[in-house]
Amino acid sequence: MFTAWRLDKTDGVFHAALTECDESALPEGNVTVAVEYSTLNYKDALALTDRGPVVRRWPMTPGIDGAGTVLQSTHPDWQPGDAWLLNGWGVGETHWGCLGQRTRLDGDWLMHLPRGFTARQAMALGTAGYTAALCVLAIERDGATPKQGPVLVTGASGGVGSVAVALLAKLGWSVTASTGKLQEEPYLRELGAADILDRNTLSAPGKPLQKERWAAVVDTVGSHTLANACAQTRWGGVVTACGLAGGMDFPASVAPFILRNVTLAGIDSVMQPRSARCKAWQRLVDLIAPEQIERMARDIPLDQAQVAAQALLDGQVRGRLVVKI
Ligand code: NDP
Repeated sequence: MFTAWRLDKTDGVFHAALTECDESALPEGNVTVAVEYSTLNYKDALALTDRGPVVRRWPMTPGIDGAGTVLQSTHPDWQPGDAWLLNGWGVGETHWGCLGQRTRLDGDWLMHLPRGFTARQAMALGTAGYTAALCVLAIERDGATPKQGPVLVTGASGGVGSVAVALLAKLGWSVTASTGKLQEEPYLRELGAADILDRNTLSAPGKPLQKERWAAVVDTVGSHTLANACAQTRWGGVVTACGLAGGMDFPASVAPFILRNVTLAGIDSVMQPRSARCKAWQRLVDLIAPEQIERMARDIPLDQAQVAAQALLDGQVRGRLVVKI
């Protein structure tokens, strides 16, 4: 027997509980794993509180990220005792996830734990950190450099935002951190932010073209914030859009794209091929120091996951939450 969060919906009524499960309940897959650490991403918080259509099969164990040790495997790449890492692939959405002591997964989804990180450190970064690294790779792919001007990071005190600030500062960018938590200015400066911007200055409807400010943007917020970020991006700059913390809409005009040659780069972490995942994780290993990880991360026990999920969606969480299984 082992413990796992189970989410269910019967006759439209949502139910979430930490449950004792039997091994026979584990889903299909060729690698059975012990989960040592997981984490709470925005998506996990939506699933645990039923605030968004994340779960697409009931009952479901949530948890889009995990790290731990292989117990049994019929997959050629995985042997008992191997240290694994998983981000996305629909786990915690359509396939039993990592907020529990055991799960069974497809070996093709697993990565070897990056050399240089413990399981806990990998989960302290998690999908949020790996997505921030994907944004950085997209900015570099588009040719933007720190010499061209500052970079804007929105939702800066959140998980993706915190890691993006740290990564970009380490790469020599002058980072402007947009936040609704102005009291977190010392934290954001410790991560490497050069300037702090009140997020209210970006959240209202704005003109299609505004004063050119940013050479690049990492946007985790969407809606008017993303539209304003595009309208303030310099000629030839790149805006990476990865989140919707402020809304799923995009009330913008084409002006920045056709008059300023701005590139809007979409970022999806879930279905990235292995090569991109490895590149992104290598950037995290190379650029994020252990003390930066400790600044961002706080541990919570498995049984606190739902309470913490509510706090995260209420905007009360800074940085990243690591779930010790
Ligand atoms: P967090 O909850 O950790 O951070 C979100 C941050 O956004 C908050 O801390 C807050 O930062 C800001 N925020 C919250 N509500 C609002 C609001 N109403 N208006 C403006 N800003 C707001 O989440 P994550 O960092 O883990 O994820 C951020 C977004 O990125 C989410 O939408 C998530 O779904 C998405 N995401 C997408 C991925 C992908 O593959 N595309 C992968 C990972 C995440 P502050 O107080 O500093 O302003």
